[in-house]
Amino acid sequence: MKLAVILPAAGLGTRMQRGTPPITAETMGTSRKQFMLLEGAPILVHTVRKFVASPLVHDIVVAVRADDIEWVTDMLHPECRELLGELRVVAGGETRQQSVQNALAALDPDTDLVAVHDAVRPFVDLDTIRRVVEEAELTGAAIVGIVPVDTVKQVSGAQASGAKVRSTISRERLILAQTPQVFRCDILRRAFEAAQADNFSATDESSLVERLDQVEISVVLGSDRNMKITRPSDMDLARLFFEHEAVRH
Ligand code: C5P
Repeated sequence: MKLAVILPAAGLGTRMQRGTPPITAETMGTSRKQFMLLEGAPILVHTVRKFVASPLVHDIVVAVRADDIEWVTDMLHPECRELLGELRVVAGGETRQQSVQNALAALDPDTDLVAVHDAVRPFVDLDTIRRVVEEAELTGAAIVGIVPVDTVKQVSGAQASGAKVRSTISRERLILAQTPQVFRCDILRRAFEAAQADNFSATDESSLVERLDQVEISVVLGSDRNMKITRPSDMDLARLFFEHEAVRH
């Protein structure tokens, strides 16, 4: 079984403002969360280290903005010495979906399984990676998800202002989708082709695979530690999680 990991890391970080107080190394310099420093290393490096540490992973393909390919390659190569296969850094696109599609095109043709993981989720653990990969190996498609703790409302109007509650969605049958999302390579390629043909866009790969006939996607329960670093305040939590990880190892 040959597993490749795709890490989309070409986002511009529009929800992370530059120089948000307190001004620290983490908040200065870049608003792109994948390159913010966590204990001296960019978040992307922490994420790459997790997958290099997994004995299941063969290749890693990282999608970044074209201008960043060179320095990111130089930064990641030393991290990937223990990798079974190859590290590739490719140009991402205007959307996350396009970035993943570009990375997909760079995979070896004999790749069996593809795991897509947000570069900005550095706290994924090895056990979760193993469980979701094993499930996808068995069924063809599996994603990591967690159960919601808040009550979920459907609203009308803009989310940020002027929203009015229309209904409550029962929590019992809801899962909040995280990554890794792991698919048999042929299934994921088919899903991207269909999405492109229909001009369909979405914020995760599962949404594309859900549109295919006869593919069921399993859910493997994850942890709320596998957070997506998105807003400035997430960095405070990230530092705390990092300290906890360091104590455990
Ligand atoms: O913006 P969002 O939170 O969906 O980003 C999730 C991941 O997708 C991030 O790691 C981000 O860098 C990546 N991304 C990308 N190409 C884009 C936009 C986002 O690779 N054009």
